Formats: sequence, structure tokens, C-alpha cells
Amino acid sequence: MRFWLSLCCQLYLTLLLLPALPVLAALPVDAQLEQALDKYILLSIDDVAAAEQQLLELEQQHAHNPAIASRVRLLSYLVNYQFYQQDPERLEQRLSQLLAQAELTEDADTLAEIYATELEIRLYQTKLNEAFLNIDRATQAVSRALTPRVRYYANNVLGRLYKADQQFEKALQHFIDALDAVSETDDAFTLRRRAFLNYNIAHVHTELRNWTQARTLTEQNIAEAKKYGHDGFLPELYLLLGYIVGSEKDYPRAVQINQQGLAAANAVGHDSTALIFENNLGATYIQMAQYAEAKTILQQALKRAEQLQDEHSKQLILQNLGFIRVMQGEHDEGIAQMESTMRYLSQHSAKTEYEPYYEWLAKAYAAAGRYKEQADTLLEQMALQEDIRKADSESRLAALHDRYDSKAKAQQITILEQENALHAQLLENQRLHQQLVWLVAIIVAFAAVMVFQLYRKVRRSNKKLHETNKLLAYQSQRDVLTGLYNRRALQEYLQKRALKRRDGDIVSSSITGFLLLDIDFFKKVNDSYGHAAGDAVLQSVAQRLQDSCRDKDMVVRWGGEEMLLVLDNIDPAHVGSFVQRVLNIIGEQPVTFDNQQIAVTVSGGFIHLPFAGISEAELDWEKVLQIADMALYLSKTNGRNQVCMLEGLNARFSEVESQLYSDLAGAIRAGQVQVATINGPGGNVS
Ligand code: GH3
Ligand code: MG
Ligand code: MG
Repeated sequence: MRFWLSLCCQLYLTLLLLPALPVLAALPVDAQLEQALDKYILLSIDDVAAAEQQLLELEQQHAHNPAIASRVRLLSYLVNYQFYQQDPERLEQRLSQLLAQAELTEDADTLAEIYATELEIRLYQTKLNEAFLNIDRATQAVSRALTPRVRYYANNVLGRLYKADQQFEKALQHFIDALDAVSETDDAFTLRRRAFLNYNIAHVHTELRNWTQARTLTEQNIAEAKKYGHDGFLPELYLLLGYIVGSEKDYPRAVQINQQGLAAANAVGHDSTALIFENNLGATYIQMAQYAEAKTILQQALKRAEQLQDEHSKQLILQNLGFIRVMQGEHDEGIAQMESTMRYLSQHSAKTEYEPYYEWLAKAYAAAGRYKEQADTLLEQMALQEDIRKADSESRLAALHDRYDSKAKAQQITILEQENALHAQLLENQRLHQQLVWLVAIIVAFAAVMVFQLYRKVRRSNKKLHETNKLLAYQSQRDVLTGLYNRRALQEYLQKRALKRRDGDIVSSSITGFLLLDIDFFKKVNDSYGHAAGDAVLQSVAQRLQDSCRDKDMVVRWGGEEMLLVLDNIDPAHVGSFVQRVLNIIGEQPVTFDNQQIAVTVSGGFIHLPFAGISEAELDWEKVLQIADMALYLSKTNGRNQVCMLEGLNARFSEVESQLYSDLAGAIRAGQVQVATINGPGGNVS
């Protein structure tokens, strides 16, 4: 007959919250908060509601406590509190809040507490895959943790997690590590914690079928629980021990233990546990073929199940009672009862639970001599076992797949996140690079524009300067009123000419003519028509002179109303006609000013360089101009509107030189100078 083994969940919940143990290493703790949390734990054993109230008050006061280890401990308790509040959303919020603390510290104890709390919640939620996804960081932190309280708590969580996953060796290791941590403490909770751990260790041994260790440990645990008055714990311990010795087929001892367990459960009012003991006792008696004893205790159990309205247990008990009826000769009734309960169980419970009962049904058929049905039942049981095995391995495989998938997914997510971060970084770099390129381009463009502007400005100002210089140069060489060359320009020109001649640049045959002109009776123009009219006449005469000259000739304002024409490289044969043209162009057309016609004539003297074969060193342009002035004077005295042209000498220059400057008329009369006169239009003026 099957024994029941029920592990009481309450046990986990009461021992989960543990007071602080002495701190081994310097941690960021707040002594006052730690003390308050210790008090909370103690209070939670006796008065859960008051403890919760206190916890929420602590949250108000210490949510931002700078001591991270203590703050994390408070948060961890709050997460557990939230779990019991059954508000999944709020629970996840608090859990995230707790996990966020991990970012702020490297402290192994603090990290272990954070990560173990997370695992514990996943364990309660039976989200084992999610727990195993994050188990490594918890294990790592725990292996470095120093504080006994944290080491106990975290190893305990890890042990339970591995146990739930049927990884019993690993579970055992963590429970033993937790026990080590507890052995470093000595306070009101030490015994409870050790008992709880030993219970778990014994349970793992049971799963591993290490019956002797499991039994020895549980017997010790029972002795200690009795010694220290942990009566509430005793039923669970007896239940485990009964299961162990039953599995060892030590039925008399199993009877004894189940009776002790029943008494213990009754003593603390654990009705449902008492029911288990009663059924287990019945099952044990059946194993020992003591059907009368079995029937008595099972009928007692049946009543209790009915009282507790526990239909499931009732059916199990009826199954056992049915078997007894068969064994006691009521074959058909007993088998009918067993078949009925089998139907119920197959509809209402897991295959694994009702599968063993086929064995007892088969035994019943055999006892009733119904061998065909016995064989069928055994075959059915085998098929069921095969189903279970398959389903079990499939679900384990599925769980493994799930776990692998979620781990792979998590890794993939991490890789993707890293890739994204890298990508973002690359994009950022690219952006910065682009910005830099743009910046450089802008600076270069800006600089180019600046340089260009500067260049243009310089060029403009150079041009302006050049123009100004040109203007200045022009102005410095020109007469303002007429625009003709001034005396300075003439001087420069003739000096240059003299240098060129000296250096041999000018061909010696080249002849330069000098025609000096003076407006006749100009004073009268001013007097009769006004000064402005005089100016206009000057301008007009200047223009007419320029019009009759070649570009290479120079028209100079020599004095007030005197002008000089410097005629470069002239042909002596054409000089006469040229002079005639000049006299005509001035004298033929009056100057119109202010609707008035002003008649103008000029008188002049002409000479050329070199003159009469005399070297220019001897007779330079200054001297020549003195002589031309004399010739002009002669024209004036001879009746004006004419030009006296000096053509050569009939005497040696040295002999007549001084007379040429002072008394040209005398020299002419003496026949020493060859002259010709060209008359302007209209004859002499007066
Ligand atoms: P002549 O035929 O003997 O040369 O008689 P003239 O009146 O022309 O000679 P004179 O030398 O006596 O007079 C020249 C006058 O020219 C004197 C002066 O007032 C005038 N004059 C000189 N320069 C300018 C000028 O720029 N503008 C004007 N309107 N008159 C000027
Ligand atoms: Mg004059
Ligand atoms: Mg004059």
C-alpha cells in the first residue's frame, strides 16, 4: 500500500525570513535598520499582520537609506511580503526595484541577497526555467559572500531550487553550505534553521534513496525538536521518518512511527497531517496483513476525511478498505469498491498517483480467483507506467528544451543588445565623423570665402591705388583747365629724350620740332567777354591743337595763354603745311561762348632740334625754346596771326648764339638766320 508524504509549505514560509547574524566583513550596513529588520523577523513569527505593518513603516523611513546592504535586505523582505499579497504586477515592480540595486554595488553579500531573492520568487512561482536562467549570477555571488545570514539564506534558496529540479546532489551541496553558515551563528534562530536544513537534507537523501542517512538525520532532528520544544515541526519529521522506514520495509517500526506522528499531529491540531498518518498506518497494517487493525484505523481516517470534506483522501481510504474487504472474503463487494475508487482516481488525479493502485487491484483480483482480470489489470498498469515514463521523459526533455531555449534566447538578446550598442556606437562615430568633415568643410569654405574676400579687397584697393596713382600721375602731368601737358611733363619728357639721345636710342636723323604759340590779344578776350569766356577760348584752342596733332606729339600749356607743340620725329618737308594747318584750324572758326562768336588767332615761333647741325650738347632744348620764344616775339611784332619758322644758320653758331637769344630780328636782318613766315587765315590782326 502506498505511503503518503506531504511536505508542509508553511515551514518554508516561516523560516524564510531570517534575522541578521554577526557581520564578518565591513559592509555598508545601517545598524539601526538591521536591528529593526531583526525585530520584524521575530514579530513575523507571532503576529504576521503587525510585522507587515512594521515592514511598511520601515519602507517609508528607509527607502533611500544610503547603506546599500541594509536597504537591499529591507527590499528583499518587501519582495517576499509582496509575493504573499498576490499582486503579480506590484511584485514584479518590487523585484525590478531590488534587481536595480545590483547595478550600484560590487559587494558579494548584497548581490547574493538580491539574486537569491529573485530565485526564491521564481521558485514559488514554479518558474524554474526563469530561475535557472539567472542561477549563475546568484551562485557566483554566494560563493564570495561572507555574512552567515546571507550565505544561509542564499544557499538555502539554491538548495531548494535544485531539489525542485530533481538535481539532488547539487541541492545537497547547497544545503550543507547553508548548514556551515548556520554553524557560525548562535542565536534564537540557530536551532530552527539547522532543523529546517537537516529536514531538507534528509528529504534529499530520501529522494536519492540513501535510506540510512535519511533515517539517521531525521531521527536526530526529531530528538532535537522534542528537546527544544519545536512541537509544530514534529508531524512533518515523523511523516518523513515513516516514509523512510516504510520504504525500508520495516513495517513494525513504520507502525510505531506513524502512531507517534499521529499523536504529534493531534497534539498541535494538524488535522490533515493526522489523516495522512492514519492512512499510512492502515497501509502499513495491510502490508503486514493485519487487516483488522488496518480496517479500524482506516475507518477512523474515513470519518476524518469526511469531516474535512477531503474527497480525494476519502477515495484513497475507500480503496484501501475495499482491498481489506476482498482479503476478508467479501470479494465482489470489495472489488466493486476498488473499481469505483479507481474510476474516481483515474478521473481526478495524476497518472503517477493512481498507477500504483492497479497493483493492489490486481492482487485483489488474484485473491478473488479472477486471474484474467488480474492479468488485464497488470497489463493496464504496465501500459500506464510506459505512458508515465514517456510523458515524464518528454516533459523533462521539454523542460530542458525550454531552459536551453530561454538561455539561448537570453544570450541571443544579450548579443543583439551588444550588437545594437556597437551599431549605435558606429553610427554615432559615423555621425561625429560626418560632423567633423562638415565642420572642416565649413571652416575651409569659410576660410576660402574670407581669403577670396580679402583677395578681392586687396585687388580692389590695389586697383584703386593704381587708379589713384594713375590719376595722380595724370594730374601731376596735366593742366587742370585745358587737360594739356604741363611744363613739368614737358621737362620730364625732354630730359628723357636727352638721355635716350645720349645713350644712342634715338636715331640721329630724328628731328623734333618745337612750335611755341601765343594767343593774340587774349587780354582783350577776357576784358570783352569775361574770364570764363577766356577760359573757354583756352579750352577750345587746346582741343583744336590736340586734334591737329598725332598721338606721339605733345601739346603743352606753356604759360597763361601760351602753348607749345613738341612734334616728335618730323619730316622737315611737311612742317610748313602742318604749321599752316594749325594756324587755319584756330583762326578760321571763332570760338562760340555764351552765344557769342569770339575770333581767335595765334602767333608762333618754330624751331627744331637738332638745329642747323649743332650738337644738342651745345644747343639743347632749353636754349632752343629761348630762340623759339624770340621767333614768337618776332611774329607778334610783325603783325600777329603768323608763325616765324627758323630753318637754319648762315653763320657759325658760336658767333651768333648770343644775338639769337637777344636780337633775333637783328640776326635775321644781318642774313645770319634762315627764316620763313607762315601766315594765318585772314592776315594780320590788330
Ligand atoms: P598779345 O597779343 O601781345 O599776346 O596780347 P595779349 O593780351 O594776349 O597779351 P598779354 O600778355 O598782355 O595778356 C595776356 C593775358 O592772358 C593776361 C591774363 O589776364 C590772361 N590770362 C592768362 N592766363 C589766363 C587764364 O588761365 N584764363 C584767362 N581767362 N585769362 C588768362
Ligand atoms: Mg602771352
Ligand atoms: Mg597773347
